[in-house]
Amino acid sequence: MNIRLSRSIVGEAEAQAVRRVLIEDGYLGMGTEVRLFEEELAVYLNRAPEHVIAVNSGTAALHLAVQAMVEPGCEVLVPSLTFVASFQSISAAGCVPVACDAREDNAIIDLEDAKTRITPRTRAIMPVHYASNPAGLEAIYEFARKHKLRVIEDAAHAFGCRHKGRRIGSFGDVICFSFDGIKNITCGEGGCIVTVDPEVARRCRDARLLAVQNDTQARYSGARSWDFDVNDQGYRYHMSNLMAAIGRVQLSRLENEFAPKRTRLAAIYRERLADLHDIAFFQNDPEDEIVPHIAPVRVLHGRRDRVKADLAEAGIPTGIHYKPNHLLRRYGGGKSSLPTTERLYSELMTLPLHPGLSEDQIEHICALLRKALAIL
Ligand SMILES: *Cc1c(COP(=O)(O)O)cnc(C)c1O
Repeated sequence: MNIRLSRSIVGEAEAQAVRRVLIEDGYLGMGTEVRLFEEELAVYLNRAPEHVIAVNSGTAALHLAVQAMVEPGCEVLVPSLTFVASFQSISAAGCVPVACDAREDNAIIDLEDAKTRITPRTRAIMPVHYASNPAGLEAIYEFARKHKLRVIEDAAHAFGCRHKGRRIGSFGDVICFSFDGIKNITCGEGGCIVTVDPEVARRCRDARLLAVQNDTQARYSGARSWDFDVNDQGYRYHMSNLMAAIGRVQLSRLENEFAPKRTRLAAIYRERLADLHDIAFFQNDPEDEIVPHIAPVRVLHGRRDRVKADLAEAGIPTGIHYKPNHLLRRYGGGKSSLPTTERLYSELMTLPLHPGLSEDQIEHICALLRKALAIL
């Protein structure tokens, strides 16, 4: 039984889509496939097509969003417990990521802590839907309104999730998704920005193509801009037709295949491990529909490292999501302390989760975990 922590689930349909671009179309760059992918994402997210901007990674999406909304030198509140991409996207835009503590019950940004870190230079908050959990989103938007901050959702984990009936990305200020190899849907690599703010959308759309003004429209009509103007910093962050072709197939598989499978497998973990007092799960709001990207648990009472090693020995890979960013040298090297985040970091263990796993494999992992915990 070869069990992987996560993996891409791609097959014949994706291969055929790539083949269509390679052999029939022959234009691999940004063109019709990307336009169609954006249109299909817009339908899925109940947005207008011009509100969805496809790029070549989730990190690029976050970077463009920050750059479009926050002036260099200003501060962005962000939970320390996130992938380093969130922090790098903020510092890439010349802004300052301000590491905030996490809530113990769901690992989401702790607004009480965040409040104490607001300064005259704070411009935005970047909540992360940790383990696909959009809990507390109203409170975050309320907090942002009160303190006059923009919201950039790092929704890299949350594609396909619903918060109180509404799909993540279908409402809110600026939402960034990732379509990297192991996310809920993949393009190989990729991501997108979703916003109804026309100025932010325009700036992101231009900045993904070296800030060549309106180059997107030119490309979508099969042309390129030759006599153009540039007035902003831009990047080579656009998505390619090859990536979009994969993404379109993946999007069509999400609701019937990937989402129910991920949800079912994660539910087995919760059922089978519920009675273990060395294991704690993060709390989801029952009103939310979660398509889990990862399956983290807390291993309590100082037992994490031993249990993790035992599972590894039994052939079960596990992860730790994440090393807190405030411990990284670039972001302070642990000069400040975030007590809940640091405790969670010592307890976190991510169990294997991807749609290629069977229910039997999850049962097997649960049995091995129970066994590892039974041995003192
Ligand atoms: C994956 C991820 C990103 C970055 O997305 P990429 O597409 O890999 O660049 C950002 N934030 C979080 C929380 C992620 O998990």
